[in-house]
Amino acid sequence: MANVPNEPKGSKPKTTATKSTRTANLAYSKYLKKMYTRAAESAARGNPVAWVMAGAMADEILVAMDIGRVYPENFAGVCAAKKGAQPFLEAAESDGFSNVICGYARTGIGYGRMKRQLGAIPPGTPDGGMPDPAMLVGRTTSCDIGYKWFQAQKRYEDAPLHVIDVVMPPLASNLEEVLPSYIEFQTEELRAFIAFVEKVTGRKMDYDRLNKVVDIAHESIWHYYETHKLRRAIPCPMPTQDHLACFAPGFFMLGEPETLEFYKDLHAEVQQRVDEKVGVIPNEEFRLLWAGGLPPWHNLGIFNYFESLGAVFVAETCYNIWDPYPPGTRGDVVEWIARSSIHHRTEYLTPPRDPRVSAGGLKAGTFLSGRQVSVQWLLDKINDYKVDGLVMHGTMSCRACTIGQLYFKDTLKEYIDLPTLFIESDIIDERNFSETNMKSQIDSFVESLANARKRKQESQAREVGKSGQTSKA
Ligand code: SF4
Repeated sequence: MANVPNEPKGSKPKTTATKSTRTANLAYSKYLKKMYTRAAESAARGNPVAWVMAGAMADEILVAMDIGRVYPENFAGVCAAKKGAQPFLEAAESDGFSNVICGYARTGIGYGRMKRQLGAIPPGTPDGGMPDPAMLVGRTTSCDIGYKWFQAQKRYEDAPLHVIDVVMPPLASNLEEVLPSYIEFQTEELRAFIAFVEKVTGRKMDYDRLNKVVDIAHESIWHYYETHKLRRAIPCPMPTQDHLACFAPGFFMLGEPETLEFYKDLHAEVQQRVDEKVGVIPNEEFRLLWAGGLPPWHNLGIFNYFESLGAVFVAETCYNIWDPYPPGTRGDVVEWIARSSIHHRTEYLTPPRDPRVSAGGLKAGTFLSGRQVSVQWLLDKINDYKVDGLVMHGTMSCRACTIGQLYFKDTLKEYIDLPTLFIESDIIDERNFSETNMKSQIDSFVESLANARKRKQESQAREVGKSGQTSKA
């Protein structure tokens, strides 16, 4: 990590991001906040509340069984954005947890530790904190933390833990051959989870209700997926900082009617902005891809700094919404959730579409290697969203999203030459963050975007000149 000099005295860096769409501005105040108040009210009435990890595939099941939900990953992001995470990070570290462990996990663990010491939610906790859990729901996907975090959290919470094994075939598999056994396994995992919730709460799953909840979830995802396609327009109607607010209802309130209402509103608003050619900034000079890593939740205002220099983030590779799984194929609803999960995890593992990637010599029907999947994915985004440059964020405490970034950056150069900025800080912990340093890196990067464009224009002019001479001859 970079050596961080002191910030100038008296400087007050902007930490939150100014959003472009009206709907994104409501994502937190009108929707997400409700998750915490509802969970607190639910717990006060004696109803069970689950602490859940995003991506555990537990959402629709818990909604259908009326279990209150909070997501400690989101809680950590909210704490960081509100400058309230530091005491929790330090509390976790004082209990022996290393400062390179996931910032989300350290925030949750530190919160649990302080809550246990005080016998109550620590005063001043953003959004009133998370009520005591009746159950902890972990997942095996994404990273080792997904599996281990809640095991450590159990030091402070008197609640049973269930970890859902969320599976994805190995990259070298033949999809057609292995898919049935993966779907069968995933379905059984979800059935075991339902049995766990029934045992802990004494409630029975209502499968008609689950079907309705899945309908709502599916329609919500469809609206958000279509909204993302609209961001290909020039000028771009919705930037990455809006996505970083708008993904949250889909990740943390999936299956709830308000979430569907939210995405319908967003879809309509973004369509209107495209129709009226309303961009994020008045003069969109450069279109950027957030091409790796999670964002610095503690200082999202940095996105607006790019905009002040004419650069807009038109797409990103984090918290992506997936291609909705076709609802017409639904039979057994639990199996459908399993199929949908595997579809989401394998949609990019298709034969290469870009001829430059397929030149790698892969057989149709087999998965690509991780390297080529990522290159294909980045190339798709670059082409579809007409990207001029890439930004990657190496985060100290999320190895899962940082590993391979430099490798992908270098590999991508084999296919396309675009200016790329590599920045370093963390998702939650701002002890290594310097706004001054980052802004100076951004200044140089935007200069390199301008130079690259100039070189391209000069080369195109030379080509036109040559062809003019040829036709005269
Ligand atoms: S993917 Fe990264 S941020 Fe998310 S839980 Fe794992 S280590 Fe933490």
